[in-house]
Order: sequence, then structure tokens, then C-alpha cells
Amino acid sequence: MFEHITASEIAGFGVGAFLLGATVYAPKIDSFISASQRSSLGMCKRCGDLRLIACSSCKGSGVIKGGPFNFIQLENKSKVRSSSCTKCGARGHFQCPECSNKLSRA
Ligand SMILES: [Zn+2]
Ligand SMILES: [Zn+2]
Repeated sequence: MFEHITASEIAGFGVGAFLLGATVYAPKIDSFISASQRSSLGMCKRCGDLRLIACSSCKGSGVIKGGPFNFIQLENKSKVRSSSCTKCGARGHFQCPECSNKLSRA
């Protein structure tokens, strides 16, 4: 079935995957793009103009697996062994404080 996928579809998928990865792994981009490079490009030092910062508690998934309350959730059989992240409100990311400052000032 892969022969039906055109090159542009593959490129589109690649861009989509990159954007998703860039959002989720924004903190890791720090190792590739330094803050000084970002500011020289006019990008936000904090988030690289993604306006989002991935949650460090849930790694951007919005869900925490296991953890100290694991045994409680095991008894509650309606829930899987995971809980929504309270740090980010299960969104998996925060709004970049730098960018929201910029927006409110503008
Ligand atoms: Zn979180
Ligand atoms: Zn920002």
C-alpha cells in the first residue's frame, strides 16, 4: 500500500511529525538551538516561538503513568494505571510565559 503514497504526502507527514515533536520536545531543542541563536533569529528564547512549553512532569503527554498513587488506582478498576497530570491540567504543555508577556504588552 505504500506505493500509493506520493512524495508530497511523505513530506507533509514529515513536517507534521516534526511540528508535533518540536512541541512535545521543546526543552530538548535547547541542545540544538542555543538561546543566543534564537534571539538573533528573533525567536523566543524560552520556547523558540512555539508559544508552548512541554510539561516536564508528564513529558508533554498530559498523563502520568504509575507514580506514588499507583496502588490506589489499581483498586479503582475503572481507571487504567495512569492519571491526568495536575501540573499542566492534562494538557501536556504550558503557555510560554515569555510569549504571553509579549502579547499582553503589544
Ligand atoms: Zn503535565
Ligand atoms: Zn515563548
